[in-house]
Amino acid sequence: MQYSPKKIIQILEKNHFNLKKKFGQNFIIDENIINNIISKSNIDSNTLVIEVGPGAGALTYKLADVAKKVICYEIDETLKDVLSDVLFDKDNVEVIYQDFLKANVSDKIKDEKYDRLYVVGNLPYYITTPIIIKLIEDKINVDKIIVMVQKEVGERFKAKPGSKDYSSLSIFLNYYFEVTKIMDISRNIFIPKPNVDSIVVLFSKKESKQELKNENTFFKLIRDSFKQKRKTIKNNLNLYNLSTIEKILNKHGFDLSTRAERIPIEVFIDMANEIGDRND
Ligand code: SAM
Repeated sequence: MQYSPKKIIQILEKNHFNLKKKFGQNFIIDENIINNIISKSNIDSNTLVIEVGPGAGALTYKLADVAKKVICYEIDETLKDVLSDVLFDKDNVEVIYQDFLKANVSDKIKDEKYDRLYVVGNLPYYITTPIIIKLIEDKINVDKIIVMVQKEVGERFKAKPGSKDYSSLSIFLNYYFEVTKIMDISRNIFIPKPNVDSIVVLFSKKESKQELKNENTFFKLIRDSFKQKRKTIKNNLNLYNLSTIEKILNKHGFDLSTRAERIPIEVFIDMANEIGDRND
């Protein structure tokens, strides 16, 4: 098939496919946007791509042109005929019909040979954050994640200290990845047209992370620090050893009356390392 959004719409119609809101199905119908995402991704013939939610295969088709292999996870089995039609001449694409959140990705890719692992997707809005968290928790060692997400959610992912979107989630993600916006996306490029705009966010694996003695202590500390956003560190961490916390805050020019939303990741790492293995 020579790709064109019109062709994809025709194939959807030919297969009597009804778009399903419950699966967050808003399909891209703008070829320029797809080309733009692909060219900014730097995918090459040694890259293994995992695509979450191929839908009608518009992005998949172009990913297959540049990647070594594309492994797709699609929850909606009724897309089988559509995807076979769209991707019939692509022999480096494998579609697995399964809920991505339940997939054993490490097992799936263990015998694949590749230099870089990318995860790409125009993500279903209702599970954007769980998908990103799964990618971290599964420890599949992904090099880059390039995802189209709802604008507000993307802003939270890449938020920096002092911004209203900065949260324990931004710190968690920023511990593993450099998070940047690579493109604004208008709501007009989808069928059906959603009520929100989107952005494309790039997560690049951090090669050198600040040493962390105990990840669990760190993640508990950031969750506790943001427990009540408007409260100070002193109030949110009142069950911790406050003199230890104060010592580290002072070292970085903060004090116990600071709110978590102003504190950068390296200060939290320092605090967690000082607290050590205790989870108090
Ligand atoms: N990639 C296509 C595009 O850009 O046109 C479709 C994107 S659409 C926003 C999201 C896709 O994710 C849909 O095809 C939907 O069926 C699929 N999806 C939703 N929940 C899923 C899940 N838990 N696991 C895998 N795929 C899912």
